[in-house]
Amino acid sequence: MAKVILIIEDEQTIVDILKFHLEREGFVCHGAGNGLKGLRMAAELNPDLILLDIMLPGIDGLEVCKRIRAQGSQTPVIMLTAREEEEDKVFGLELGADDYVTKPFAMKELIARIKANMRRSAAGTGTGGENALRYGGLTIDFNSMDVKKDGKSLELSQKEFDLLVFMAKQPNQVFSRDELMENVWNYEYYGDARTVDVTVRRLREKLEDNPAEPGYIMTRRGAGYFFSINN
Ligand code: CA
Repeated sequence: MAKVILIIEDEQTIVDILKFHLEREGFVCHGAGNGLKGLRMAAELNPDLILLDIMLPGIDGLEVCKRIRAQGSQTPVIMLTAREEEEDKVFGLELGADDYVTKPFAMKELIARIKANMRRSAAGTGTGGENALRYGGLTIDFNSMDVKKDGKSLELSQKEFDLLVFMAKQPNQVFSRDELMENVWNYEYYGDARTVDVTVRRLREKLEDNPAEPGYIMTRRGAGYFFSINN
């Protein structure tokens, strides 16, 4: 079945260009010209991915992202940002966006990121027939994509889940930010490691008893991050 993309963007020319290219790739596209309409369509359509402009009339893209996540939706969200909105990128990730693309973007790069973010890389694809990982009070179920801590489900975004699974499958192995970018985000990254740092921070806030003194997602100074099983 064709994957559905919701484009929340007020500039009609950008919507038209996106639609043209994405429909050629086999996606079904819907456009929403403002944030409230976008929120309504996100709820009605339950799209496979949302492209979300930051500068929108009425409520902006950051607020839209926040509300989408507040509704419990885990649909991948890619923010479309202008170069001068540097700070908004990090803010957007903190609000639960999975990725961002800076305007003007190359269509090829955008399509690669759309595909990478749609790929539920870690879900149900374990080859060893292993369906869950358990470490102490933490359970990661690959089939249902549910993560429980002490019996309580954690609301993780797609990328937080992917990052956790990738690291937890190879406990105590240190991964650099570049390695995490390549394996969890599925594309070569162009120099900005903050995406990894922000996702780690969000994951820690949900996963750790005390995010300032993590017990699972550990930092190896100057080297990267690793998942510790010494809980
Ligand atoms: Ca705009």
